[in-house]
Amino acid sequence: MKVQTASMEQAQQLLQKYYGYPDFREGQRKIVASMLGGADTLGIMPTGGGKSICYQIPALLQPGLTLVVSPLISLMKDQVDALIAMGIPAAFINSTLSGKEANDRIRAARRGELKLLYVAPERLELDWFREEMGTLDISCVAVDEAHCVSQWGHDFRTSYLAVSPFVNGLPRRPTLAAFTATATPEVMDDMIRLLRLDNPSVFVTGLGRDNLAMSVLRGENKREYIMNYVETHGHQPGIIYAATRKEVDDLYGRLRQAGVPAGRYHAGLSDREREESQEAFLYDDIRVMVATNAFGMGIDKSNVRYVIHFNMPKNMEAYVQEAGRAGRDGEPSDCILLFSPQDIMTQKFLIEQNPQDEDRKRNEYRKLQQMVEYCYSTSCLRWGMLDYFGEAHDRTPCGICSSCRDERELVDMTVDAQIVFSCIHRMRERFGVSLVSSVLKGSQNKKVLQYGFDKLPTYGMMRRRTEKEISELINMFIAEGYLALTEGQYPVVRLQPLAGDVLRGKHQVMMRAPEPASAKGAGTS
Ligand code: ADP
Ligand code: ZN
Repeated sequence: MKVQTASMEQAQQLLQKYYGYPDFREGQRKIVASMLGGADTLGIMPTGGGKSICYQIPALLQPGLTLVVSPLISLMKDQVDALIAMGIPAAFINSTLSGKEANDRIRAARRGELKLLYVAPERLELDWFREEMGTLDISCVAVDEAHCVSQWGHDFRTSYLAVSPFVNGLPRRPTLAAFTATATPEVMDDMIRLLRLDNPSVFVTGLGRDNLAMSVLRGENKREYIMNYVETHGHQPGIIYAATRKEVDDLYGRLRQAGVPAGRYHAGLSDREREESQEAFLYDDIRVMVATNAFGMGIDKSNVRYVIHFNMPKNMEAYVQEAGRAGRDGEPSDCILLFSPQDIMTQKFLIEQNPQDEDRKRNEYRKLQQMVEYCYSTSCLRWGMLDYFGEAHDRTPCGICSSCRDERELVDMTVDAQIVFSCIHRMRERFGVSLVSSVLKGSQNKKVLQYGFDKLPTYGMMRRRTEKEISELINMFIAEGYLALTEGQYPVVRLQPLAGDVLRGKHQVMMRAPEPASAKGAGTS
């Protein structure tokens, strides 16, 4: 262990010398120590957490070359340019180079003139490249955006499957380190299994950056909200994500018309248009970027003050990745999700549109459900997020999320809960949220009559509420863990053990009462 302490000191000196940073962030320190100790390492950090330093510093302290596998060609050049500017010998090899240029760089690596060599994963599939790499002294292979190896993730890339055969085919197996911002258990398992990380040290850190104020707003007039928000924060850079190109164009048009310096980004624009608006955003020529999720991977803009989601994303991974583009400089920033139940329909539609096998589909529905639960949660949103990703946290609420700032009083909802749970019980836990709501409402709809649910004692017991309010209530009970939905396209509501305690009068349900639908959306926020 002495050796390691000594090299951590050196690591810190290099950090100061090349990057000008006095200290590692907590997560970085652990990862760098693990890599210097020669262990395979899996580092999970949010976007902006400082992943690159985690392998760049060890690269400088190891005798041979560090090969960096990175998915984006455009990013590679920027990263390498930045390294060279700091005086760190680095290069990249990708399809933009001629054969001679690529060979020159390999020769430079062989002469020991490079510490870092960036390559795209596709390259690892080429025989000649594998042979050339076999003749080099490679100390470490660092895999960036490692979630791309997993089909459970959101950016699966077949070529990532070539990493493991490549690493294990080298004459001397280097240490392997993988980095990502995605930390669900399945994706973590896949990264370990498919990259064949050897008994890796796993570090999950910093997902809950405490400068980010997370909010979920339900029942807002979304367009109005955005126009108001941008007007009051107009001078600050921000990103607005919307689910479809049409929605992006519409919001963009409205903002421009209101005189806001906005840009837009989606797959329907030409490469040139996209590049131009990206540049304009980076250089603060435009302030607001309205975009689909096509925008953002590899954007290194540190002063984004807010990220607003016009629609709920398909899962927590996507949400955290996109929202995490706010506040990379550590300054207070807003992450606002404008939720409406329609978003669930949109995401289900997108899942159905996408041809894929049943397993995958079920998985996507499950993740969607967890995203919805986050949107209905009334407890601290940062806890919700950290729990989802399995990161340990203390039990002090963040104090700045929309749940923590919610000043509505907790009210006793035990009786409402008992009515809902008993209705579900009497319907034999075989139906979805909307039919349960119809029965509680006392609706005459065909399905209700067909099953004879109008004869149930709970039929019509929530007559005074709208069906929408009843569904919201049920969704809140789901988010709080009293109820659960089965997986699939038509999820069925089931009672959880806690609901049994409520029905037996052993557990009191304290929640923030949902606001009546009519009072919201009227612009009272
Ligand atoms: P990631 O790849 O995880 O998205 P980066 O490696 O691009 O993050 O780093 C994000 C930002 O944080 C960069 O601007 C980087 O210079 C800065 N940064 C990283 N590590 C430190 C540190 N130890 N001290 C101060 N700033 C840091
Ligand atoms: Zn909170």
